[in-house]
Amino acid sequence: MATSTMPPAQTSSDSVEVKKVAIHWFRHGLRIHDNPALLETVEEGWELYPVFIFDGEVAGTRTAGYNRMRFLIESLRDLDETFNNYGGRLYVFTGDLMNILGNLIKEWNVSRLSFDADVEAIWHKRDQDVRRLCSELDVEVVERVSHVLWDPKDILENNGGKPPLTYSLFNQVARAVGDPPKTVDDPDFSKVTFKVKSNHDKLFGIPDVETLGVFPECEQQNQRHNNWVGGETRALQLLSQRMQVEKMAFSVGMVMPNQTFPNVSGPPLSMSAHLRFGCLSIRKLYWVLRNAFEKSHPGKGFSNSAIGQLLWREYFYTMSVNNINYDKMEENPICLNIPWYNDQEKLKKWENGETGFPWIDAIMKQLKHEGWIHHVCRHATSTFLTRGDLWLNWVDGLKVFTKYLLDADWSVCAGNWMWMSSSAFEKVLQCPKCFCPVRYGRKMDPDGVYIRRYLPVLKDMPLRYLFEPWKAPKSVQEKANCIIGVDYPLPMVEHGKASKQCYNMMMEVKNKLLATGKEMELCGPANTEEVAQFVWMPGNHAGTCHQGEEEANPSMLCDGLMGM
Ligand code: FAD
Ligand code: MG
Repeated sequence: MATSTMPPAQTSSDSVEVKKVAIHWFRHGLRIHDNPALLETVEEGWELYPVFIFDGEVAGTRTAGYNRMRFLIESLRDLDETFNNYGGRLYVFTGDLMNILGNLIKEWNVSRLSFDADVEAIWHKRDQDVRRLCSELDVEVVERVSHVLWDPKDILENNGGKPPLTYSLFNQVARAVGDPPKTVDDPDFSKVTFKVKSNHDKLFGIPDVETLGVFPECEQQNQRHNNWVGGETRALQLLSQRMQVEKMAFSVGMVMPNQTFPNVSGPPLSMSAHLRFGCLSIRKLYWVLRNAFEKSHPGKGFSNSAIGQLLWREYFYTMSVNNINYDKMEENPICLNIPWYNDQEKLKKWENGETGFPWIDAIMKQLKHEGWIHHVCRHATSTFLTRGDLWLNWVDGLKVFTKYLLDADWSVCAGNWMWMSSSAFEKVLQCPKCFCPVRYGRKMDPDGVYIRRYLPVLKDMPLRYLFEPWKAPKSVQEKANCIIGVDYPLPMVEHGKASKQCYNMMMEVKNKLLATGKEMELCGPANTEEVAQFVWMPGNHAGTCHQGEEEANPSMLCDGLMGM
């Protein structure tokens, strides 16, 4: 890996004619397929340098824990191997972005810089600076949007310059803009020249995660049950595996099998981390899904329900595009300021999976050990932290997710947290239902496989007590080698009481808001159908309970979840 060492400037003696030189700068978009900026740069007779620069921020590296950093490194290795197959290599640098780019442009005599657009607000300034640098150095910039289905600018333009406040409005505007672009061809690398030095690895090789100063926090991060592997090659394999499941669902009239039949302990089939780094093109996923849907429903027209989840991703990206404070509560115009408690001790217990609720703790362990948790697990743990039980700020939860999740996206993660905590995207704070940390777990993990996997201390606890082990008689605890309060914590709150209190506080927030007449300024789903699409719930709301009535109500939701 080089910090500032550049390969020697090419001289005209390298070849008879002086070549035009281009850099393709990878940030997200870590793929060859459907990469329009790369495709445009691969031009007959040009010399191409694929570059990645660790500048302390790129691709969310500032906040990344060990698992996500490893996923990124794997993705870069995969890219490097792909280029190697065509006679090239990936050039990796570490240091100050503007210095490195400026030096490369001069030393390699670069005339074109291409990159896939990073549409999130946090990248705007960096890319403006780079565009300015290129203009000063007379370098052509090729920047194309393919990390999202629609360029957020087009959506905003078609909505009077503002982000569409509800998901239905977003869908209406997206329909007016038209279908998302089709994927572009793979580049033909036989047209370009690559220059590779024999000591490439030494000078420009990919660093280890540890070299970047990020270390495993626990042994489980190296001994994971589910092993997620980064990179375009794996992403494309996963896509074909995943499509078999999706096609099967379409053939029996279902959509979104991953959320309709949540399997929290199933094998890693999600593509969100690959989408997050751009190892998989969102447009490829969209069109493969759409084509498969249309094939299995001939003549019926296309229904967005088949790709509904992809549109939520789009919606959160679009909502955040001009809001640099999207990941904060204060100064974030779409986020309600809720007087959350500030309790570091409780926050740590939640983060470390020591709440005493095995369902929540197993989720937090999986998050830390593997970097991925199912959507229903994300619901359970985020509502527990915020409006369900602990009444702690969603921003603290976001920071933990942002560190550990492989798929942590600045906009998508914050958007989901705001919604789950009733801070935004919810029309009138109708949230009298919350997930019960006992019953929801029972419903999602009926055999206790998930809990026993991530909390081995409870492996011998009988299923009857597994979700509320504090209720197990002493003799049962002894037999299971797990004394509650000693080997595994007592529950940190009494769910019934805590959720009732949270409910009352949320109603206070709501009433105050109603008094100001401001609630309609908040963005949110337009109707309950949208809520249902976002929050998967078993048919009879099993797993939820009326807040404050946990003991009395045998169903599993706490009543009134998200306005349903
Ligand atoms: P599928 O159901 O197969 O959906 C396909 C794709 O659609 C996903 O890969 C993802 O890119 C997108 N998608 C699905 N659900 C959502 C959603 N609710 N919002 C936006 N996009 C969605 N997803 C992320 O990609 N990054 C995050 O940082 C993230 N943070 C979350 C935080 C919280 C508190 C919650 C409740 C959800 C979060 N999600 C996030 C959304 C969702 O949980 C994951 O996208 C999903 O679990 C990934 O699994 P999948 O690929 O099998 O999803
Ligand atoms: Mg997926």
